[in-house]
Amino acid sequence: MTASLGLYGLGVMGSALALNILEKGFPLHVANRTAAKVPPFLEVAGPLAAKATGHDGLAAMAAAMTPPRAIILMVDAGPAVDAAIEALLPHLEAGDTIVDCGNADFHDTRRRSAEIEARGLTYLGVGVSGGEEGARHGPAIMAGGRPEAWAHLAPVFEAIAATYEGQPCAALMGPDGAGHFVKTVHNGIEYADMQLIAEVYGLLRHGQDKSPAEIGALFGRWDGGRLKSYLVEITAAVLSAVDPATGLPVVDVILDQAGQKGTGRWTVVEALALGQSASTIEAAVGARGWSAEKTTREVGERILGTERKPVELSEAELEGALLAGRIVAYAQGFRILQAASESYGWALDQARVAETWRAGCIIRSALLGDIAAAFRGEMPEGQLILAPAFAADLRASLPSLRRVVAAAALGGHPVPALSAALAFADTFAQGRGTTDLVQGQRDYFGRHGFVRLDTGAVHQHGPWADAPVDKVADPDPRLS
Ligand code: NAP
Repeated sequence: MTASLGLYGLGVMGSALALNILEKGFPLHVANRTAAKVPPFLEVAGPLAAKATGHDGLAAMAAAMTPPRAIILMVDAGPAVDAAIEALLPHLEAGDTIVDCGNADFHDTRRRSAEIEARGLTYLGVGVSGGEEGARHGPAIMAGGRPEAWAHLAPVFEAIAATYEGQPCAALMGPDGAGHFVKTVHNGIEYADMQLIAEVYGLLRHGQDKSPAEIGALFGRWDGGRLKSYLVEITAAVLSAVDPATGLPVVDVILDQAGQKGTGRWTVVEALALGQSASTIEAAVGARGWSAEKTTREVGERILGTERKPVELSEAELEGALLAGRIVAYAQGFRILQAASESYGWALDQARVAETWRAGCIIRSALLGDIAAAFRGEMPEGQLILAPAFAADLRASLPSLRRVVAAAALGGHPVPALSAALAFADTFAQGRGTTDLVQGQRDYFGRHGFVRLDTGAVHQHGPWADAPVDKVADPDPRLS
């Protein structure tokens, strides 16, 4: 690495990433909008501060750095990134690189890449996953940008990244917004996995009257099997924790309203924009939205009077349901990646994406190695759920998912993500669905036309010639 390296933004993630970079032996310039946070950072860095140079602001940092410069931005996504870029540009020159390591919307990254590269600079949009702990000791890193820019900074990113069997979990995913898009979809899958886990917890807690400690122990056991993952591991820890102030299980003193910062929603919006439906992820994003309506739920409990009934489900059935739901959540995430890759010409390597997620990131799990292998092997229609290993998993686990969703529905327990996963798997298990009727309805009211099964003829209409017409027929009924 010949560039001098700077990092702007010493918040939770920026500080942790800076310490990680310093620990790996790279000299680092640091600055923060609130300059008063720089000296405390250097103090916390202790001996690592020997390789750090603090500055009063972004301009001062850029001026002090020797070209070619590489400046990492670790600030809030959105206007803060544009403001930092604007402040930086007068102090940079051709050959310098700006690296946005925040959770940017990939559309912004595409725009910034084009604007910045038109000025002779280079731009990398880099998704960093693993929270504060990951940033400090080894995150998963998903980069987007030009290969030469990545090659230049890869030694730093590969040194600070998590490793899996000696391989760094850091890779160039594709051009411009590809890295931030992969990070966005990662977060979407994370939402889905967390919601699936929470729904299984709900069935055990409210449908089987088990204590958080008992359920935590069960998740701990599941973490030794096919469900092995960071999220199952921390679920066991969270459920086993006791609140020191009250002696109650910690989960019982937490308000049931989940926050969100946008990446889950972006995944769903982009999925729909690409003609996909990431229904399990969407269910999870929606569930967080509903959770915010605490008062409405409390009033609803009184007015609707739905009684939550016990559910008779074995641990094996719940484990199988969670496995099936998780496979579908991953599969839907990879479908969005494929659709985006085709739409934006990214040529994403899905196997490499899966490998990058095997360590350091929040959705790391035992399934990811198998997913990478599946993408390198036989995969009918390019669909993860149809790859031999995952099709076998689903054939074994879908009966459990079906029983769990059915029992939950009859018992009055909402399981939106598990239900969505089941509907997805059932839809793709049927060659003939019900949109023949939808096409008939569309032709009836809008003369949209349909394709005849017997002759293959397009632009066909039904025998409802006198039906009202509110729309001129679309040129190709399959596209409308
Ligand atoms: P944070 O602790 O709140 O720190 C935010 C940083 O952004 C601070 O350095 C802040 O400077 C700076 N900032 C905010 N607005 C600014 C502006 N208008 N101009 C210049 N600097 C500004 O946030 P964080 O958790 O480190 O998150 C940073 C980025 O990492 C975000 O994009 C986030 O989505 C992403 N991320 C976070 C996590 C996580 O687990 N926390 C994981 C992956 C990615 P001041 O000190 O002056 O306020």
